[in-house]
Amino acid sequence: MTMPMRRRPPDRLLGGACRSRRHACAACALLAGLLAACGAPRPACPPAPAPAPLPPAPEPGEAPIVRVLVLESDRAFTVSVPRARVFEAAGDGWTPVFEISGTFAVSRAGDGVRLRQRGGRSHDALALEIRPDAGGLFTIEDIPYRGILQARPGGSGIAAINVIEIDDYLKGVLPSEIGHLGDGLFEAYRAQAIASRSYALSKLEEKRGELFDLRSTVMDQVYRGVRGENARASEAVDATRGLVGTWDGEPIRAYYSSCCGGHTADIRVGWPWKTPYPYLEGVRDAPPGENRSYCAGSGHFRWEAKWSGTDLARILQKTLRSELGEVVRPFNILRDIRIDSRSASGRAAAITVVTDAGTWRVEGDRIRWVLRPDSPTGPILRSTLFKMETRRGGGRVRSVELIGGGNGHGIGMCQNGSIRMAGLGMSAEQILGHYYPGIAIGKIYR
Ligand SMILES: [Zn+2]
Repeated sequence: MTMPMRRRPPDRLLGGACRSRRHACAACALLAGLLAACGAPRPACPPAPAPAPLPPAPEPGEAPIVRVLVLESDRAFTVSVPRARVFEAAGDGWTPVFEISGTFAVSRAGDGVRLRQRGGRSHDALALEIRPDAGGLFTIEDIPYRGILQARPGGSGIAAINVIEIDDYLKGVLPSEIGHLGDGLFEAYRAQAIASRSYALSKLEEKRGELFDLRSTVMDQVYRGVRGENARASEAVDATRGLVGTWDGEPIRAYYSSCCGGHTADIRVGWPWKTPYPYLEGVRDAPPGENRSYCAGSGHFRWEAKWSGTDLARILQKTLRSELGEVVRPFNILRDIRIDSRSASGRAAAITVVTDAGTWRVEGDRIRWVLRPDSPTGPILRSTLFKMETRRGGGRVRSVELIGGGNGHGIGMCQNGSIRMAGLGMSAEQILGHYYPGIAIGKIYR
């Protein structure tokens, strides 16, 4: 199965807070210089990417269907359904085979899949589709889902794909992606619904020939079926039905992350390996003429990270290799580490690591995967918006201290900022217009 190229996950809204108010203020002061650079001249915009065809819709005006990978397993998995029709793949379509009710095991069988009722019949096919009766749910491993289940061979095992109308999918996404919001923050739910819908639709065309459109993890958007729903988020999905952010008439690739630290990131700096959509060049996240950022109340707005030279060397020995590959030779001594260049918004655009076995450069958001605070496999660094202080002595790095801001890749909508803007009385349209400048918002299905 094809993995999306170097896609980095949108970060969750995490708990935690600055260690002390004094620390937060000191950190703010130190980062102020970085953020002051926000007004610096910006590089010229690249031309807008060529428009892709519109996402497929079953009938003009009807809601698109998305295919979401909900489980990928080398072992059999269990499906329960009150009543459903089973179809098998035949040519380009599906042929009905029988009706089922109860609990079944789905497993790989040669180049295809097998459906077996406990103690009962079994059926093999190249692929199977289980279509619950109208309004019915199916359950995989105790998680109920709306829509249809496709079971297909995938990799060495089996893939469970939920084929579902996009708005039903979004209802299972919103609470996992932006949390449970109070009544005064409904516009943040509406903004998230429009952003998540736009993101999903923007993926459909490029995934058309593949097994599925979206993963149900942070690789795309976290989707937990009916178990992930709540009433208020579902209301926001219904209230925005069909509404999509567009650029040149196409759904926008609406990336978002938890907290931008005061300025959202430029995609050309964070993910130089991805399409540089012009609405993702980064914005200052504060009301015009004011200093306090919309996301300043987040516990991630300012943070710090520290390593001894030996601890950081131990981490880099593993993380550099996993990010840059075999070109990184084993080393013993970390001689230097420094920020090479910064984006206009103050983020580290590239760092250089000098060791006794070679010098390596790490660019963009990949820096977060290399500078892990605790261990080579622990959580990644919260953001690339940081100031670095390196103490050197005796030909090696003695310690490194970062004072940083924000949590996540920082590209597109800042969710903490969005929640604050909603709390200040702004509409979803105003929120999205702030984070994705120049987009239009329109209804593309009824
Ligand atoms: Zn922000």
